[in-house]
Amino acid sequence: MSKQKINTKTIDYKSIKPILDRSKKLVYIETYGCQMNVNDSELVLAILQDNGYFFTKDINEADLILINTCSIRENAEQRVWGRLNVFRIAKTKKTSLKVGVIGCMAERLKEQLLEREKIVDMVVGPDAYRSLPDLLRNVEAGQKDVNVLLSREETYADITPVRMDENGVSAFVSIMRGCNNVCSYCVVPYTRGAERSRSPKTILNEIQILVDNGYKEVTLLGQNVDSYFWKDEKNPEKDVNFAQLLEMVALVNPLMRVRFATSHPKDISNGVLYTMAMYENICNCVHLPVQSGSTRILELMNRKYTREHYLERIAKIRKIIPDCAITTDVIAGFCTETDYDHAQTLSLMTEADYDFAYMFKYSERPNTKAARQLKDDVPEDLKTKRLSEIIELQNRLSLESNKRDIGKIFNVLADGFSKRSDEYLSGRTSQNKTVVFPKKNYAAGDFVNAEIISCTSATLIGEIVENEQHETIHELKNILGETIHIFEEKTEKARNKIKQNINKTTKKWKQ
Ligand code: SF4
Repeated sequence: MSKQKINTKTIDYKSIKPILDRSKKLVYIETYGCQMNVNDSELVLAILQDNGYFFTKDINEADLILINTCSIRENAEQRVWGRLNVFRIAKTKKTSLKVGVIGCMAERLKEQLLEREKIVDMVVGPDAYRSLPDLLRNVEAGQKDVNVLLSREETYADITPVRMDENGVSAFVSIMRGCNNVCSYCVVPYTRGAERSRSPKTILNEIQILVDNGYKEVTLLGQNVDSYFWKDEKNPEKDVNFAQLLEMVALVNPLMRVRFATSHPKDISNGVLYTMAMYENICNCVHLPVQSGSTRILELMNRKYTREHYLERIAKIRKIIPDCAITTDVIAGFCTETDYDHAQTLSLMTEADYDFAYMFKYSERPNTKAARQLKDDVPEDLKTKRLSEIIELQNRLSLESNKRDIGKIFNVLADGFSKRSDEYLSGRTSQNKTVVFPKKNYAAGDFVNAEIISCTSATLIGEIVENEQHETIHELKNILGETIHIFEEKTEKARNKIKQNINKTTKKWKQ
């Protein structure tokens, strides 16, 4: 593997925070769903900012409301229908207000959105954001407009997202779009289209811009990052797979932490794991959705791996990166799931010893393979019972995992105040665990070493182990501050003296 330093330093500084200009047309963007959607909203803001719209956090002053939607589960869609009712009220108060629905629901429910929701002016799918300025011109002219065309090429590679996050510490960078897997329960291949990878050059450029703007952590995003593949048509030797991209990203700046999501158990390669082990700044955390512990159910889900294959991948991660956290997604009550299948899921969770999991009841999504070919036949109360058992088990595993961290020292990237007190900061370990610790003279964006002194199943509580380097930097900053102050005072005195002398001389000359 090449360790060659990649030179991306030629990029000009570019501010990537929203421009707040209340004298211009204002857009308010509300985002639901996954990290990809958060990143898409940032792309949309970049496109709109280049076309005369500016960002507002205040829905009441907006001229345009965009709601970036998610279709992954029934309740995600229900929340959006609820929000549209709120926007209806806003529109009665301000008749010039325009409302647009963007994202996965736009793709899936375009007709209903325009016909049922009279307040919706514009519906735009995930591959059609470049057309937003044109669509908005039509909307301004009083028409309704829609573009939900899916693309085989669009990656928005050349657009630098405008970051709406509060802390300026961590950012998402999309490395690919769409998905080719067609898991039987999933709407993503229908709402986001076929998989396409973004050019490494534009990814590295975007990361360098984040470095230049003071960001400390980047998360590479894709529905299945392990199948990232950039084909160099002219020179096949320059093709780039995910392990190679990960290495290139790690080399942009050794102080920039690198994460990625989401991995697929059938595709995660040893190359990716060795690359993670090789670079200190690639975080030791793999999110590897299992969905079920039963090979029979995995086959019905069209996941294309078995229980045994999955556990072999877990063993490999633990061998290559011994202190790696492993997290997952689990679905309770998929079509035809028996008590035995459910017990298989619980036993796999115990064997994998997950640090964290996202856990859901199966919710049938219209037009998916499962909806067309399988019966959603596990009763709702049984789904609820199985989900409770899964959650209970995971809470126990997470607590045990956190207890094992007591007494250890972790390098933590502070990302803001803790929820409970401004005297405490919250941050993340390389394993993506949350640590809360006393603020002292640290701030969001600082790396600190924290010794874990206690925990809950969700949070580690730490004490700062004074970092000599930080102390020295802090002292140097104080000395520098004082020196500048003294210098400024002296300069001011010198300036006054010079002025007086000039005045005296001028007077003499006049006399
Ligand atoms: S890998 Fe499967 S679950 Fe993930 S986005 Fe693709 S189809 Fe959906």
